[in-house]
Amino acid sequence: MASTQLHPCDWRGLIRSGIHDPGDLPPSFSGDPDALGEVARVYPMRINRYFWERLLEKGEPLARQVIPDPRELDDTAGLEDPLGEEKDSPVLHLTHRYPDRVLFVVTLECAVYCRFCTRKRKVGRAGGVTDDTIRAGLAYIAAHPGIRDVLVSGGDPLMLSDTKLGGILESLRRIPHVRVIRIGTRMPGVLPRRITAGLIRVLKKAHPLFMNLHFNHPEEITEEVRSAVEKLADAGIPLGCQTVLLRGINDRPEILERLFTELIGMRIRPYYLLQGDLARGADHFRTPLETGLGILRALRGRISGLALPALMVDLPGGGGKVPLCPDYVVQKEAAAWTFRNYLGRPYRYPQPE
Ligand SMILES: *Cc1c(COP(=O)(O)O)cnc(C)c1O
Ligand code: SF4
Repeated sequence: MASTQLHPCDWRGLIRSGIHDPGDLPPSFSGDPDALGEVARVYPMRINRYFWERLLEKGEPLARQVIPDPRELDDTAGLEDPLGEEKDSPVLHLTHRYPDRVLFVVTLECAVYCRFCTRKRKVGRAGGVTDDTIRAGLAYIAAHPGIRDVLVSGGDPLMLSDTKLGGILESLRRIPHVRVIRIGTRMPGVLPRRITAGLIRVLKKAHPLFMNLHFNHPEEITEEVRSAVEKLADAGIPLGCQTVLLRGINDRPEILERLFTELIGMRIRPYYLLQGDLARGADHFRTPLETGLGILRALRGRISGLALPALMVDLPGGGGKVPLCPDYVVQKEAAAWTFRNYLGRPYRYPQPE
């Protein structure tokens, strides 16, 4: 066993042999290496070997998500804690904002560090999540019978070993009021080799378990990704996807149409399309609110409703998530409302007498 653990091609090896410093980027990517070095000292960089190779094949849409950009340090609009998570944290690394569910951060590590990450202030830094904070989180959940749904998040929870993740899931399963466990992870799309038979065994024991994956661009989907996702779906895990709307990367209807229809083809249901939040250092990725609305309007009716996520704005200051919907109502009268359908044609719906 020990020798397979050290094999350079297992998932941990692919992380170790990845790119962790802008100085290791080929000149065509690094621009001004000193400037990028400065960025990476503030916001850590990591591109694992698998994702790096895909990035070399696919270029821009992958590169821009993970290569540091000097604009990260110029951002004065952004907020350190854009969603006000800390003020709703009764214990460190657990956010309890809604009555029946909590967000439980179990690691601050990821297989790539996305430059637009909401938790830029935390990810990739030492000394955050410890066995003690995890124990405290579990104790808090056990002590609050109103919590039905635990969203295990990070960082990326699949960075934990099978044993460690399995231990957390088992502890959650032993709490009778916890109905649903959710895991939020980008791993199947950025390091598909992490989806091992051993991991699947651990996940299957945690049912009812849901997973929300993270894909932003159709070029992230490869044969290896498909087979990793297939293993998860075959394990009976309902799969969702949270996509971040990113300026210049996926903010066009044609790109998201390709992404969303590919996803349902892999049994992943697009769940949320997230408007960029105000994370400090990520302002250059934000799109105007109209962009997301325009995309939804363009896709509604054109692609399967199954493939259409809800557009969500996570409000700054801890207001939580609200959906943003294109308005199809043209006029509201006592007797009838008038709508416009996806082709822009007007239709009347009479109210009951
Ligand atoms: C997004 C989020 C949730 C989960 O919200 P859903 O709409 O149920 O997916 C829970 N807690 C916090 C703090 C969140 O940000
Ligand atoms: S994988 Fe998720 S938590 Fe990690 S850096 Fe990317 S967006 Fe942030």
